[in-house]
Amino acid sequence: MKIIAGNWKMNGTRTNLENMINELSSINTENTIILCVPYTMLNVKSDKIAIGAQDISQHTHGAYTGEVSAQMVADAGAKYTIIGHSECRQYHGDTNDTVRTKAEQALANGLTPIICVGETMDEKQAGKTMTIIESGVRESIPLDTKSPIIIAYEPRWAIGAGLTPTHDEIATAHTLIANTLTDMGLTGTPVLYGASVKGSNAAEIMSIPNVDGVLVGGASLKSDEFIPIITSVK
Ligand code: PEP
Repeated sequence: MKIIAGNWKMNGTRTNLENMINELSSINTENTIILCVPYTMLNVKSDKIAIGAQDISQHTHGAYTGEVSAQMVADAGAKYTIIGHSECRQYHGDTNDTVRTKAEQALANGLTPIICVGETMDEKQAGKTMTIIESGVRESIPLDTKSPIIIAYEPRWAIGAGLTPTHDEIATAHTLIANTLTDMGLTGTPVLYGASVKGSNAAEIMSIPNVDGVLVGGASLKSDEFIPIITSVK
C-alpha cells in the first residue's frame, strides 16, 4: 500500500474537485489518496479521498492578513497539510526553521504535515544534495515528534520541469532520509518522492526501496493522468 498525494497548487474550482472525487470513487485501490487543494476547497467532502491544505501559517491567530492557521484548516475539514513546498520556500521565504514551526502548528491541531525537503539546481551542482536533504529532515521536524508525519523528497530543480533524477539518485536520497529518520528515533514515517511523476514513471519510482508513495503536482489535476498513477501500484 502506497500514499498517492496530489498538489493542485493554485488551480481548480470546487466543481473540479467534486468531479475528481466522483471519478476517483470508482477505482479499486488500497492506496491512500490525498488531495492537497486551495483553502477554498477544503470543506469538499469525500469518503475515499483525504483532503489536505498546501501550507499553513506559523502563527496561531492574530494580525497576519492573508494567512490561514492550522486550526482553521482543520476546522474546514482537512486532515493533512503540505509544509515547506519548494514554491513556499522560493516565493514566501520558508526556511527549515519556519517549516518546523508550521509542523508544530499542524500537529497541535491534529493535521498530518507532509514536510517537503529537497535541493535546488545550484545546490545540486555544488555537490550539496545530501547535506541539504539531511539538514532539511533534521531541522524541519519538530523535536520529540510522536504524532504521524510524512516526508516528501522533492528535488526542487525537477518540480514542474518534466525532469526526474535517476533511479540511483532517488534511491540514494531515500536511503539517506530513512537512515536520518531512524537516527532521530522516528520509525514508520512514510517518505514520498515528488517531482514530475506521471503514469509512465510512477510504478518504477514506487518500486525503489524506501519510497512509500508519491507527491504529484501537474499530473494530479486531471483524472486521466492521476488515475494511472494511483493504479500503477497495489
Ligand atoms: C509538486 O509541486 O509538488 C510537484 C511534484 O509538481 P510536479 O509533479 O508538477 O513536478
